[in-house]
Parts: sequence; structure tokens; C-alpha cells
Amino acid sequence: PIAVSRKHSIATMGADGIGPEVINAGVQVLKKLAELDGSFTLDFKNYDWSSETYRKTGKYIPDGGLEELQKHDAILFGAVGAPDVPDHISLWGLRLAICQPFQQYANVRPTKIFRGTQSPLRNAAHSDLDWVIVRENSEGEYAGQGGRSHRGQPWETATEVSIFSRHGVERIMRFAFQMAQKRPRKFLTVVTKSNAQRNGMVLWDEVAVDVAKDFPDVKWDKMLVDAMTCRMVLDPKSLDTIVATNLHADILSDLAAALAGSIGIAPTSNLDPTRKNPSMFEPIHGSAFDITGKGVANPVGTFWTAVEMLKWLSEEEAAKRMMDAVETVTERGVMTKDLGGTAGTQEVTDAVCAELEKAF
Ligand code: ATP
Ligand code: MG
Repeated sequence: PIAVSRKHSIATMGADGIGPEVINAGVQVLKKLAELDGSFTLDFKNYDWSSETYRKTGKYIPDGGLEELQKHDAILFGAVGAPDVPDHISLWGLRLAICQPFQQYANVRPTKIFRGTQSPLRNAAHSDLDWVIVRENSEGEYAGQGGRSHRGQPWETATEVSIFSRHGVERIMRFAFQMAQKRPRKFLTVVTKSNAQRNGMVLWDEVAVDVAKDFPDVKWDKMLVDAMTCRMVLDPKSLDTIVATNLHADILSDLAAALAGSIGIAPTSNLDPTRKNPSMFEPIHGSAFDITGKGVANPVGTFWTAVEMLKWLSEEEAAKRMMDAVETVTERGVMTKDLGGTAGTQEVTDAVCAELEKAF
């Protein structure tokens, strides 16, 4: 046997709803892939932190939990959120409680239409859209700043303050230009709302102009976020790499996922580009309690998430093999209901494992 030179330690965390179901599917495929490949190993350690933990202990992450996570090379995350816990508590309790201290300031969301699946965009010429949305993931509208006064009174007010630091905007802009530079079209669209928001958004515009000077080979343009939604639907081919604030990119990437056919197929990478901390990889969909426990959750979003994780761990070849296997399976029509198929989570998972067997 070939000596294993590369070992990757992965923390898994399914968390809530369909999260554990899709993570289980992802781990099955990753284990099969590593076993067949033989040139690297993946060690998994599961953390069962969830809204159930919160109900029992009053917190999502136990004491010392972050230090534990810090030891891993990457985190594979499912979804957090439960019907009886307010969303802002679950989101800040687990997901953001990892993203923020680990400085995962770049959130990357690729979009493509898988072979065999259909976009709601009816024009066939649109059917191969290929975008990467780069979302600022550490500040902006989700900085958690603000407050409420006169609670419960008719004259109650609340402020939700967006924070944009030159440092924060510059590092995400630079990351986005680098991302655009690596892609064949070398084209970036910077999204803001600088007509109505005249402080932070104007800073974004200015920083874009500055950073662009260091990337003379990257073409770029800018768009207001409202006009951007129209462009994504009406002229999707005119786009490639997109950078936007925390809030704007959150919304645009849900639109992107829907245009690609289902929210069940798209991945997200929460990256610390300095690599001082582990990065976190998750499907973009939520905990989907309406289908939890039924065995029908689409695992493709998690498979693609795992592919993105492998790329981050420099396992490019394995990543490509896995992506090909997934696309061969969708092309054959083995899909869950959200994509118009009839297969269950395990059937899709088995089909991908079987494709991998053939590929080696
Ligand atoms: P959250 O607040 O966590 O984002 P949500 O309820 O707003 O949760 P999702 O959980 O993403 O959003 O679910 C939105 C819809 O998409 C639901 O009807 C759900 O069943 C469907 N859905 C989400 N993920 C999947 C999946 N992996 N497979 C099939 N359907 C899915
Ligand atoms: Mg949602």
C-alpha cells in the first residue's frame, strides 16, 4: 500500500432538523472516497451540539467547545434552527458563534445548474449559469450592533447598526478580486446600495476602485443590489464572480440557489483565508423541519459542500471525482423530490458511492 501522506481531521456537526441526515450522507460519501483514493485520510469527530443542547443546558456550545473545534482542519456543518427557539438565538448561538471567533470573514457560495436538473429560468441559453458569490461574513448589517429602547411601548424604537470597517471591506474585496482572477472569465461585479446608503456603501465603492488597481487583468463593474436581482434573472450570463455585503449576499445567494433549481443543492464555505483557524463548510439550506425524519432531504447540497471542503484541503483531484460522481447521478435522474425526482436521501447517497466505485 502507498504510504498515506495527507491526513485531514474533520469536525462534523449536523445540528438541527435535516442537518444530521445530510451530514450523515456526506460523511458516507467522503469515507468511501478516501477509502477508494487511498492517498489521504479523513478522520471524523462528531459534535452533537444543537438546539437540543440549548434546551438542556441553555447554550449551544459547551465550555471549551471552541478550543476543541480549533484542533480540526475543517468543520462540516449541517443546519441550525428549531421551531421553538427564536432564529436569532440559534443563529448567534451556534453558527455565528463559530464564524466570528474563527474570523471566517469570507463566505463563498458557488452556483451552477447540475446536468439533468432544471432551472426555473426557461431560456435554455441560461441553463449553464456559473457564478460565485462572495459574501462579507464578519461585519456589515449582521454585526449585531444596535439596541432597543422603551420596550413594549408604542414609542419603542430599535436600531440595527451596520458596521463597515476599511479593514473589513478591503480584505473581502481583495479576496473577491483574487477569486475572480482565478476563474476563466476574470470578471467581478461589486454589489452595493450606494445611492441610498451613503456611508458604508460609498466606502465599498471607494475600496473597490482602490483594490482594483492591484488586479489590472480583472474586469469589473458595479451594480445596485435591487437592479442586481433583475440582472440575475434576465441576463445571468453577464455575471461571473459577485461580491456583496453580509445582508445583500445572503439574499442574492438564496436567489441564485433557487435559479439553479433548488435550495437543496448549493454549498457555502465560511473561510478564514489566513488559515489560522479551521474553516466551516455547510449547505446553504436550513433545518427544514417540514421534511425532517422522512428520509427525503436532498443530500446534494452537502455533497457539493464536501467537494468545496476537499478543495480547501488541497484535495483537488478527489474533489473533482466526487463532483463528477454527483453530477452523473443527477444526470441519470436519481434525485430527491425538490429536484423533481423520487429518490430518498439514502438512495442518492448509495448511487453516488456506486459511481465513485466505478471511477477508481
Ligand atoms: P432556516 O431558517 O434554517 O433557513 P427555513 O425554514 O427558512 O430554515 P429551509 O430549512 O432551508 O428554510 O427550508 C426552506 C424550504 O426548502 C422548505 O420547504 C424545505 O423543505 C426545503 N428544503 C430545504 N433544504 C432542503 C433539502 N436539503 N432537500 C429538500 N428540500 C429542502
Ligand atoms: Mg431560511
